[in-house]
Amino acid sequence: MISNSLETSLREVIPGLEFEVGQGRDAYGKDEGYARMGKDLRPDIVVMPKSTIEVSKILKFAFENDIPVTPWGAGTSLEGQSLAFHGGITIDLRGLNKIRRTLINDFQVEVEVGVLQQDLDKKLRELGVFFPPNPGAPATIGGMISNNSSGSRAVKYGVTRDYVKQLEVVLADGTITKLGTRATKTSSGYDLLDLVVGSEGTLCIITAAVLKVIPTPSDSAGIVLQFKGVEEASHFVQPCLGSGFLPCTIELLDQRVVAVLSDHSPLPSVSGAVLLIECDGNDAESVEKEIQGIAELAHSLGGSQIQIDQNEFKQVMKARKVVGWDIVRASGMKTLKLLDIAVPLSAFGSTVVNVYKILDQENLSGYVFGHAGDGNLHVLIASDSRNEEIWEKTLRAEMNIVKLAIDAEGTITGEHGIGASKTHFLRLEHGYAVDLMRAVKTAFDPKGILNSGKVLPPVSIQEGVDKK
Ligand SMILES: Cc1cc2nc3c(=O)[nH]c(=O)nc-3n(C[C@H](O)[C@H](O)[C@H](O)COP(=O)(O)OP(=O)(O)OC[C@H]3O[C@@H](n4cnc5c(N)ncnc54)[C@H](O)[C@@H]3O)c2cc1C
Repeated sequence: MISNSLETSLREVIPGLEFEVGQGRDAYGKDEGYARMGKDLRPDIVVMPKSTIEVSKILKFAFENDIPVTPWGAGTSLEGQSLAFHGGITIDLRGLNKIRRTLINDFQVEVEVGVLQQDLDKKLRELGVFFPPNPGAPATIGGMISNNSSGSRAVKYGVTRDYVKQLEVVLADGTITKLGTRATKTSSGYDLLDLVVGSEGTLCIITAAVLKVIPTPSDSAGIVLQFKGVEEASHFVQPCLGSGFLPCTIELLDQRVVAVLSDHSPLPSVSGAVLLIECDGNDAESVEKEIQGIAELAHSLGGSQIQIDQNEFKQVMKARKVVGWDIVRASGMKTLKLLDIAVPLSAFGSTVVNVYKILDQENLSGYVFGHAGDGNLHVLIASDSRNEEIWEKTLRAEMNIVKLAIDAEGTITGEHGIGASKTHFLRLEHGYAVDLMRAVKTAFDPKGILNSGKVLPPVSIQEGVDKK
């Protein structure tokens, strides 16, 4: 009923706009990770604009009629970010999919937000440059900016935020504006661009972005290191980086993840824990030297090299990107509970050890892996939200693991974001600053129509919690 009247009104306001109503909305009622607990999270209507002007008209309409709006990139978020908790309009932005300008002399590219990262990567590599952030899912550029996502190369190349120069955005009332600058540096006013990066669609809708790109390294090589256990592997990261090596990737796999990955790639099924390390550069000899240096350091610290050729290494890295799904299938877990805390490097090894202690205390089984070079740990707890006892234990373990990260002066999420499932942890990490975040939200979105229920905790949760 609501869908029909929304459709009629939107057709009048924006002739030619594409819609999904009825069953077409089902695909927008689930993301890649959020435990829905039986809730229907479909929007009333999905619209597919093809231009910034259409996005502006949709928002103006929603603003005037107090209708909730949820932006949608590719829906690969893991924390419920793109789900319509309050119904209303979901805006699928994949129709804004042009590469507007390649500005190679400035090491920049201007893209619309519906462009997929993998398509942009292909196009840029033909031009000899690349955009380094690489989440393990087929994400849109808009979704990556909104989650400030990163991936396996962040240890050397940083995260999405480091590559966003300028944004074209549509505000809640439909106003179109630009944030940031194409200049290399600026000291001009408050940095609103940085506020919008990572804001998960709660402040405005991004329609286009100027991204920084860098020359593509011509050579790369990888190495697989085996350690007695996850503790020993974790403790290798700091001395490796401290010795002046700068791999682009350092991925940690615990024994259970190794077992799963070896079923889906040429990785041998070895005991203990494994680090996958990749180096790159513009000179094959230097890259090889770096790999050898890392291997020697590992030997001196109790690690050993697993022999695997470079082609096989690439296959292992490809399988590593989607290992989360292979784990879910292999474990038969009913509900995916994935944590992605990040801690300062010096605390990484002890945090890993304490994560296992917490899982053991609750008698839960978990899989531990992550972007070790960034101190970013993924903990996948095998759980079942329909079993009250197991779910309670899972939530308790989650809280204790989150506290580990905060005690180590780390963060509750290194890259996956807050979405709907981590809002209750926000004040633990940010204290009084959550009130400032709420003021920012109100300034951008006075009626609260944009992706409400995400990032900020409900006011009732804030009350009664001590301000730090
Ligand atoms: C197998 C797998 C592996 C993953 N690995 C990684 C990883 O290594 N690193 C990592 O960082 N993430 C990872 N992710 C998480 C996810 O892929 C990323 O966060 C990704 O950037 C989300 O992009 P998306 O296009 O799917 O966005 P969506 O999930 O559709 O949206 C993300 C958020 O942004 C908002 N949004 C989308 N587009 C816009 C826009 N144009 N304007 C304003 N708001 C918008 C949405 O409302 C939502 O809040 C992984 C996910 C999976 C399933």
